[in-house]
Amino acid sequence: MNEPVDSTARRTRPPVICYPVETLPAPNMSLYLNARQTLRKLDEIMVQPRDAACFTVPAGHFFRITSVDGPQVGDLNIWARDNLAEHFYSGKTRALHGTHVTTGHRLWSNFPYLRPLATITHDTLEWYGKDEFGGSVHDVIGTRCDPYTHRLLSGQSYHNCCHSNLTRALAACRDMTLDEAEQHIHDVLNVFMCTGFTRDTGQYFMKASPVRPDDYLEFFAETDLLAALSACPGGDCSTEHSSDAAPCYPLLVEILAPEAAALKTWTPAFPSAYDRSHGCDR
Ligand SMILES: [Zn+2]
Repeated sequence: MNEPVDSTARRTRPPVICYPVETLPAPNMSLYLNARQTLRKLDEIMVQPRDAACFTVPAGHFFRITSVDGPQVGDLNIWARDNLAEHFYSGKTRALHGTHVTTGHRLWSNFPYLRPLATITHDTLEWYGKDEFGGSVHDVIGTRCDPYTHRLLSGQSYHNCCHSNLTRALAACRDMTLDEAEQHIHDVLNVFMCTGFTRDTGQYFMKASPVRPDDYLEFFAETDLLAALSACPGGDCSTEHSSDAAPCYPLLVEILAPEAAALKTWTPAFPSAYDRSHGCDR
């Protein structure tokens, strides 16, 4: 390998943040924090281990994902309730907020919509920060465990990966075939999962989630949402996924309504105002 004579100069150029967020419309956190003091539970869904469930959240409501019984990671998909073509865009959320999300971060939708579908309003694991391995919680790096990669790497078939759990759940709740539902499954928010990249090889790693029963991650729905949550077969993801080896626990989803008066000044998020001409006359 021949290094160019100016290799040091090239390597030492300073990094520049791709998307400075100073101009990103900031969520009105004080409005959300006041609203969450008035919450009333409307519904709850218990997601069973190695399975998934769908739920809807009206615009202006909150939803909370809570660990129960034992440490458990959840894989979350979100769509605009009335248009499944609009869904959570983990790649752009990562580009805007970083590899892991917490209170004040937003879950953005895909093109051509690019609007916040949900805002994170509380995270009991915010204390974790970044550990000595560079790991952190609630990542938007990973894709979701799936039977295709598992087959590729092991030659085996496993049917309770998050991808399959989410597919079954969406097919059941929207009366779709598995093929139809699978087209809508997208890269997830890894709720409670502790992950990072190894410093030497840059590989995606996971480690035991610090989540414990009663920990929760809470969201505010910026528009009407359909969501699906899978209780990952990896359990706390300390050893392996795509198998029945790990202890797995349920995850509780609660749908919560604030008092209407608390949202008087809130307006729903609108899709991007870009005209979509892409440089051509229409
Ligand atoms: Zn999984």
